[in-house]
This record gives sequence, structure tokens and C-alpha cells, in this order.
Amino acid sequence: MATIKIMLDAGHTGKTWNAGAVKGYYESATVWKLHNLLAEELQKYGFTVGKTRKTIDESMDVSVRGKKAKGYDLLLSLHSNSADASTVRRVACIYQTADTQGTWDEISRKIADRLAPAIADAMEIPPDPGNGLRWKNYSKLAGGDRDGDGKKDDNYYGVLHGARMVKAPAVIVEHSFHSNPETCRWLMNDDNLKKLAAAEAKCLADYYGLKLPEPVKPTEPAPVTHTVVRGDTPEKIARKYGITPAELIAANIAKYPRMTIDLIVDGWVLTIPAKGSVNPVAPVFRPYDAAVVPANGLNVRKGPATTYTKLGALKCGTVIRILEEKNGWGRILYQKKEGWVSLACVKKR
Ligand SMILES: [Zn+2]
Repeated sequence: MATIKIMLDAGHTGKTWNAGAVKGYYESATVWKLHNLLAEELQKYGFTVGKTRKTIDESMDVSVRGKKAKGYDLLLSLHSNSADASTVRRVACIYQTADTQGTWDEISRKIADRLAPAIADAMEIPPDPGNGLRWKNYSKLAGGDRDGDGKKDDNYYGVLHGARMVKAPAVIVEHSFHSNPETCRWLMNDDNLKKLAAAEAKCLADYYGLKLPEPVKPTEPAPVTHTVVRGDTPEKIARKYGITPAELIAANIAKYPRMTIDLIVDGWVLTIPAKGSVNPVAPVFRPYDAAVVPANGLNVRKGPATTYTKLGALKCGTVIRILEEKNGWGRILYQKKEGWVSLACVKKR
């Protein structure tokens, strides 16, 4: 899919153009900052972003800036407005005038109608004391025939006219009135500008059907393993990894049935479990030797119950090593495999 390209225009040249109601506010500096923040937010959604000027001090005619929209899907020119009455406080998006040459004017209007309420929300604009509106969009005709096509349908605003000349939709965004002290103060807070940029990017992404990429899921950490070397004991290894021997054995008994507190073999690759995976007070079972008691011998089974398959039998007096106890049964090594015998039929030696 081709990316959506948005050209951003910071409304004015220099750092001190258009002072606001609060000392230290300048429209040119604020919208320059805002257009950089908006570029970052748009890029998160995958938009390709251009800027009409390279530096804040670069001067460029407004219609030339509008023509920078050539090849772009949209141009936004960012501003804050000014009025005689300091009470005026509303958002305005100025869209392109209606024409019959393409659909740029329609796109411009649709985007204006989405952006203005989103910005009014982000800026927490109350209803305007004059007309009760939080935002009011409009377009303005030049009154003459700027492009010489015989129709008086051209844009009054140079940046919108320039974009129209290169067949691109464009919107002028007035971020409320810097002649209003509250708006001015709000715009002087960088966190607010970030919030504003995020809201505008979200609004445009919704219009173009773009979503933020799914956050990359943190990959599961590879399990920690320890390869047994000469001199290792379960207790030593457990201490090294800050776990208990019982935890170490529990995590490895399925893979190494012969493993006990006394027995590990060089080259075994032990899984080191998370700390606390086994009740820390669980005592470590110590293997012991026992002799088969019944005169007629003792069955060895596959598991710790009479329901398990019989693997064979041991003669009376045979000494076996009990490696684990479970429900009255003892795990032994029988013909190099795991076997289980009833503990009632053996005597500890
Ligand atoms: Zn302006």
C-alpha cells in the first residue's frame, strides 16, 4: 500500500511573529513546535510527512508553500488566531472553496469537519461566549479569478490557492485565539502541544484508515540452563542461581529421572527454574537403600500404583536404591529405566 503523504506548514516565519495575550507567546514559534510534534505523531501511524520550510527563519511566500503540496495527499497550515476581543475562543479550520475540477475541495472540507471538533476537545475549548460554538469552519473566495480559468471560484488564502493549483487538498488550522489569555497559556505548555499533536494525528489516521502498529510483544526470555560439570552438586548449582535444591530437582526430574540430591551427571543440561517455583520449605528427599522383604519377591511397576503396568519383579533380599517417594511408593532405577515399588514391601537399610 502506498503511504499517505501529508505536507505540514508552520504558519509564519521567525521566532517572534504574532505576539499573544500572554507575554512570551509567539504564534510563529508555537506552530513551528507544533508542526514538528505533529510530524512525529503522524509518522507513528506510517504517514509520510513533509515540511514546507527547513528552518523557522526561512521565509517563503504563502502560495509557494501551498504548491509544496504537489504529490501530497493533504497540506495542513498550522496557526493560532487573533481577534480584537480577548474573550473570543474557538477553533477554526479553513477549507478550500468549492470547485468542479476535482475532489480536493471535498476532501479539504471533510478533513476540516473532523479536525476542528477533535482539536476543540483536545484544547478543552468551552463554548464561545459570542456564538456558543467551540469551533466554526469556513472557506473564503478570492473574489476574482486567480487561476484564469474564467471562474471566480478561487481561494482567498494563498496557501489554499497554491495547494489547489497543484491539485492537493489543504486546510488552514487555527488553534483557537492567542488573543485569549487562557488559550495562549494553554498553547505555551509543551505537554499540551504534544497532546494536541497526538489528537490531530489520531483524527487524520482515522480519516485515512490508518492504525498505530501493534506494539512488539516482548519475547519470552530463553530458559536459563546449566550444563553440569565435574564438581557440581545440586546444592552448589541451586546456590549459584539463588534457588533451592528442591526447586532444581523438581524442574529436572522429568528429563533426568535418576537425578537426586546426591546424583547428577556431567553433561546434563539442567533447567534453572524461577525462584519460588517449589514450596521453599519442602524438604529435599535423600535417596536411601532398602532390601526387598517378601519371600516371593516384589513387583516393579511403571508408576506409583498397582494399576500401572508390571515391568518385572525383584527377588527377596535384593537391595535397591529408593530415589523418590510418592503415595507409599518408591521410585527406583530398574533395568536403566524408571520403576516403582511398594514401600510397604521394602526395609530401609
Ligand atoms: Zn497565522
